[in-house]
Amino acid sequence: MANATIIEIEDMITVGTLAEQLMLPVGRVIGELMKNGVMATVNERIDFDTATIIVGELGLDVELKKKEAAAPVVATREKTSHSDTAVGRPPVIAVMGHVDHGKTSLLDRIRGANVVKGEAGGITQHISAYQIEHTYNGETRKITFLDTPGHEAFAAIREHGALLTDIVIIVVAADDGVKPQTIEAIRFARKAGVRIVVAMNKMDKEGANPDRVKQELSEQDLLIEDWGGDIVLMPVSAKTGEGVPALLDMLLLVSDVEELKADVAIPGRGLIIEAHVEQGRGPVAHALVESGTVKPGDFVVAGSSYAKIRNLETTDGKPTKAATPSTPVVITGFKTLPEFGDEFTVVKDEKAARAESAATATGKKNAGGRLDMNSSELIRMINRNNKVEEFNIIIKADVQGSLTSVMDSLKALDTDEVAVRVVGSGVGTITENDVHMAHTSDAVIYGFGVALPSGIKQHASRDKVSIRLYKVIYELIDDVREELTKRLAPEIVETDLGRLVVKGIFKTTKTEVICGGEVTKGKLVTPALAKVMRGNEKIADVEVTGLKRGPNDAKEIFESEMCGMSIKTANRVELQEGDHIELFTRQTVARSL
Ligand code: GDP
Repeated sequence: MANATIIEIEDMITVGTLAEQLMLPVGRVIGELMKNGVMATVNERIDFDTATIIVGELGLDVELKKKEAAAPVVATREKTSHSDTAVGRPPVIAVMGHVDHGKTSLLDRIRGANVVKGEAGGITQHISAYQIEHTYNGETRKITFLDTPGHEAFAAIREHGALLTDIVIIVVAADDGVKPQTIEAIRFARKAGVRIVVAMNKMDKEGANPDRVKQELSEQDLLIEDWGGDIVLMPVSAKTGEGVPALLDMLLLVSDVEELKADVAIPGRGLIIEAHVEQGRGPVAHALVESGTVKPGDFVVAGSSYAKIRNLETTDGKPTKAATPSTPVVITGFKTLPEFGDEFTVVKDEKAARAESAATATGKKNAGGRLDMNSSELIRMINRNNKVEEFNIIIKADVQGSLTSVMDSLKALDTDEVAVRVVGSGVGTITENDVHMAHTSDAVIYGFGVALPSGIKQHASRDKVSIRLYKVIYELIDDVREELTKRLAPEIVETDLGRLVVKGIFKTTKTEVICGGEVTKGKLVTPALAKVMRGNEKIADVEVTGLKRGPNDAKEIFESEMCGMSIKTANRVELQEGDHIELFTRQTVARSL
């Protein structure tokens, strides 16, 4: 890679911008990301490490460099507040570490044993944060855990998990030691400026080797207390539960040292960490209160949405009268679905709520938000994690029997990439309420054997809600299938055109080569993409920008003809006689289910 082109990119880059910088069709980059298990659309951001991996996989002669940020923005949570009304708040904890080192088991163990008991509501929704109670020094106190994703493939998510937290528990398996993702987790926690507590897990295992773990941590400049440093290391076993209470003690001790405080006597504010529509409840948002107090009946603004809080609940479904800092809550009453990562604030009345949310909707607001865009992006990524592309629908049918068969047929359409999400269903005509629900959840309404009253039709067209009526099941299913197909990432298809054997090189600059040779296979056309092959090895990806037959420009050159060829290169390519230039076209092709 001595001659590799160096491209400077930001820490996070959108897929579209990356493709542009690499001069590749965006579908190619999306395709490569998919191959690596990352579903990202053109406007979504990936982090530097991911971009580097992708560039490597694409076989480009390009080296990515991180642009030095002029002023790095690190969103750390407000640790202390100096106002008179500031009181202690529970710590917010995230768990990170190498895959299979026991993050999920540890969170399950902590949660199972200590979670704040609520009426078991049987809610199977993913809970994005929860609180436990733990008694330390005779005092029962709360600890908030962010349920960070188990999906470990890509660094950005972990990085962003850290930005929302006070303490990161880095889980290291005692029998496996420090691994690449452990190192990343350490790096991210440091960058975010949060306290690190190491949980040395799997202590019950025979192969546990604490000394090796300590040694390897020290190699990462993580000096534990035994070794004269200030990093706390707690030996635990998520399997037997051994050491877990001591770990929780330690979290409280560390948070005491950090003096985590927040004001409670001010209007509440915080972050939306998850939002979805629930049948019968409308938009439901999970939020983490950062400061102030939130109460039922309060008016809150989150991005372009607002609510008069109808129900304020703990994350396990228990009604609560007030939520104070570091508390994760469930809020209902939003008029429209707020977005992951929106900052929410309590405002004085409906008028203010309406005005502020409308201002955001028209893009005027967002001054004064304490968390920078990165954090919201991150939360969005956390929530997007592992998710398939969903098509939201509401189904209304004439009778229960047909509703059941429509729903069953729809289920069969789901794949790993795309899925139908039924946000509402029922028997009977389409109502105002259905239209409202479709509007807030960006859903299409399907009616099977039902009528559409004209008033509802008008309402739907005003709200730009699509209502599709069917009388034949398979036609309805076909329509849904078509919608899902549109959501599939396109396939990249390369078609070979022809091959030139280089017989002479006439000009070589950093970005251009002019050469001549003989067509030994197929047909050459211009413009086209090409690979330069030396023996079996590809030495460059290039673009063919011109062909000449004798002195004249040509559009096509056929097998066994001689021709001249102009090539555009991303960086200098030293062609040699005997090299093969293989021309091909690349197309993105829509896929079907
Ligand atoms: P994650 O990928 O970090 O979330 O790891 P998991 O929690 O899924 O754990 C990976 C594997 O290690 C599972 O098979 C767990 O049962 C096992 N495991 C987790 N913690 C312990 C532990 O303390 N002791 C033992 N023996 N096994 C554990």
